[in-house]
Amino acid sequence: MARIGFIGLGNMGLPMALNLIKAGHTVEGFDLNRDSVEKLVAGGGASMESAQIAASRAEIVVTMLPSGQEVRELYLEPGGIVDSANPGTLLIDSSTIDVATARDVVASAEAKGLTMVDAPVSGGVGGAQGGTLTFMVGGSDSAFEKARPVLEAMGKTIVHAGGPGNGQAAKICNNMILGVSMIAVSEAFVLAEKLGLDAQKLFDISSKSSGQCWSMTSYCPVPGPVPTSPANRDYQAGFTASMMLKDLRLAKEAAGAVQARTPLGAGAAAIYSAYVDSGEGTRDFSGIVNFLRDN
Ligand code: NAD
Repeated sequence: MARIGFIGLGNMGLPMALNLIKAGHTVEGFDLNRDSVEKLVAGGGASMESAQIAASRAEIVVTMLPSGQEVRELYLEPGGIVDSANPGTLLIDSSTIDVATARDVVASAEAKGLTMVDAPVSGGVGGAQGGTLTFMVGGSDSAFEKARPVLEAMGKTIVHAGGPGNGQAAKICNNMILGVSMIAVSEAFVLAEKLGLDAQKLFDISSKSSGQCWSMTSYCPVPGPVPTSPANRDYQAGFTASMMLKDLRLAKEAAGAVQARTPLGAGAAAIYSAYVDSGEGTRDFSGIVNFLRDN
């Protein structure tokens, strides 16, 4: 069992850190929000004064931070995680961030004799609590094999997506599909309504036909057909519209950097941007159906 420094104990990070404790690891945490650190301590972890101190004591460092900016700062600033960690330390960044930052940070870490993977997740807060997350891992074969056991304490499906940054690439490609498909399914339900076609009838047909997809069958954006979908609880998140917008913007930025044509991804980003600007950023992303109906 390892001594793990865990930095970023928010909605996702705290339950992930608690699962590492349950698996028998020693977890020493840091977050700017002291309340989160207190919750870690209540769950059997320890409180660290800074990310640097946590990194200097750890065999493994896990970060779960809001965006690439925090990741870049915390890892690369003078005296940051890369400077503070001892040679041989394994670094795992599970935040969803831009591919370029992920690759820069791994390169800096490896230059210092550290092992690093980018390992963003899918599965949301429920997956973090239940230890059933999917990890999409970018890094060398040896880094992946080193990271796998600790990821298994927090997730159910661990996939090696390729070299550094490929975990982030997989995450944003997947979520671009999700953003586009949620809008497509929502547009179809709005059109059906206006054509006098019952939502349940459209579901019964499309869920068994060529329109079938996850946004239809697992996360249906209208109330009724899929009882577990957020549409049945006033679009309480779930996965917020702001988070979807963040991921669509990362996909758009990545597409721009490599001259990939993603017109539907860009369109989805524009639609979610307007939805978030209308004040619905904390609503579940499937609430986009109401925005499409009303605008
Ligand atoms: P969150 O805002 O709840 O948690 C982020 C935490 O990082 C906060 O507690 C914040 O205080 C802390 N933090 C910020 N800057 C810091 C710093 N400099 N030093 C130490 N701590 C710092 O966010 P979250 O929902 O836990 O998401 C974390 C990451 O996981 C994001 O990149 C997000 O895109 C990704 N993600 C979230 C979900 C989800 O459903 N919430 C699902 C998949 C992926």
